[in-house]
Amino acid sequence: MSRTVVMWFRRDLRLADHRALEAAAADGARVVPLFVVDPAFAVSGAPRKAFMAAALQSLDEAMGGELVYRHGNPSTVLASLAAEVGAAAVYVTADHGCYGQSRDAAVAAALSTIGVPLVAIDSNYAVAPGTVKKGDGTPYAVFTPFCKVWRARGWDAPRAESDVRWWGATHLPCDGPPPVVNTTISLSGASEDAAHEQWQEFLPHVQDYRDRRDLPAVDGTSRLSAAVRWGLVHPRQLLADLEPSPGHDTFGNELGWREFYADVLYRRPESAWRNLNRKMDAMPVDDDAAARARFERWAVGTTGYPIIDAGMRQLAATGWMHNRVRMLVGSFLVKDLHLPWQWGARHFLRHLIDGDLASNSHGWQWVAGTGTDASPYFRIFNPTTQALRFDSDGGYVRRWVPELAHLSGSTVHDPGLLRPASYPDPMVDHAAERDEAMARYRSVGSGSR
Ligand SMILES: Cc1cc2nc3c(=O)[nH]c(=O)nc-3n(C[C@H](O)[C@H](O)[C@H](O)COP(=O)(O)OP(=O)(O)OC[C@H]3O[C@@H](n4cnc5c(N)ncnc54)[C@H](O)[C@@H]3O)c2cc1C
Repeated sequence: MSRTVVMWFRRDLRLADHRALEAAAADGARVVPLFVVDPAFAVSGAPRKAFMAAALQSLDEAMGGELVYRHGNPSTVLASLAAEVGAAAVYVTADHGCYGQSRDAAVAAALSTIGVPLVAIDSNYAVAPGTVKKGDGTPYAVFTPFCKVWRARGWDAPRAESDVRWWGATHLPCDGPPPVVNTTISLSGASEDAAHEQWQEFLPHVQDYRDRRDLPAVDGTSRLSAAVRWGLVHPRQLLADLEPSPGHDTFGNELGWREFYADVLYRRPESAWRNLNRKMDAMPVDDDAAARARFERWAVGTTGYPIIDAGMRQLAATGWMHNRVRMLVGSFLVKDLHLPWQWGARHFLRHLIDGDLASNSHGWQWVAGTGTDASPYFRIFNPTTQALRFDSDGGYVRRWVPELAHLSGSTVHDPGLLRPASYPDPMVDHAAERDEAMARYRSVGSGSR
């Protein structure tokens, strides 16, 4: 019998520049491509599940319908499939996430009982989490020095698709794709080809990225986050196309933030849902019934602050929100409504197609001032002045808040007497809540920085 190996796909749903697949193809005469529909996915939000299902369908098509879907606990599924096909090894891209690490340890243990190694290769990052260290071996706590060392360490050039002899669904029983998720969100970017097309279209505009990335009304960012999150494209493939220029450097740094947050979460897994800076545990947050009601208004986009409502409605309608607006809605939840950042983070994970534990929790902790940022106390975003600055002609708000679409220019951000009856008054007074937030930060000593 030909030597058979299993390639277990997870957050690496592509064929090109796939180091684990390349190693599997070099090791086995035939490769069984597997995706496990894990019951743990049940907690993921519908948009993310729908994106994953669409990406899997494209991957399956790209390999000629050979992708084997099995449903169940990964340890049980892998041990049983490996025995069934007489696998010599199971190949994976190393997963540095909290759940992925414990799942893979359990799978490796189950496979070892039948003498099959779980071979983890590469990572979903340009530089694997846990690799960038100070001279004394300790991790970097803040981004800028991390990024410098991350860049200096560098990454390999991307490699082409390997030649693989698939031995999959046309030979083996298959449980079928994950259950269909009904969603109205566009999934047009959910394939390896679409991700590369999107990147090629965006590449000429990277030179303007520094100037346009903060403007939510324009297409100034790549919109590749879901593709990167699911590994339709590896960050190495994007970084390889960057040139020395301010726009390109800034874009590279943003990918660096993704790697930094993955590194922080890898080293401090408890920071997924707990303050990285434990001193901030003492800061009072509201979590009573009134707080819950305030949260609901934030979540559905009826706060009466147009830029906040536009962001929350963009998220609900598209499964994505512009980064500048993520920061504004986050700041509003934490510093104007005084709610726990974890409530916002959970809502984001339920609704984002790019929902990623490390980027999301640490994006939230950055906003809340509980994470890696050295001077969070100074940043309480004023939603109206931020809107006037970054959506100066009001186009973003008009697009997502139809009640205000008849208002021209920047009037949408502060409609005053022009506010229509169909749109609520501001649910809080920003100036008063800013003082309240400052008092709370001071109460734990943050104000003394
Ligand atoms: C509160 C909050 C929550 C967030 N949650 C997530 C999340 O769950 N998943 C996620 O991928 N990003 C998250 N981000 C980061 C960022 O908002 C998105 O990555 C970005 O908006 C995606 O759009 P884009 O692909 O057009 O980004 P671009 O501007 O084109 O950036 C290119 C890529 O770099 C990465 N990136 C960019 N900015 C960041 C950043 N600040 N942190 C980490 N990676 C970044 C993404 O992979 C992105 O696709 C969050 C940010 C905040 C403030």
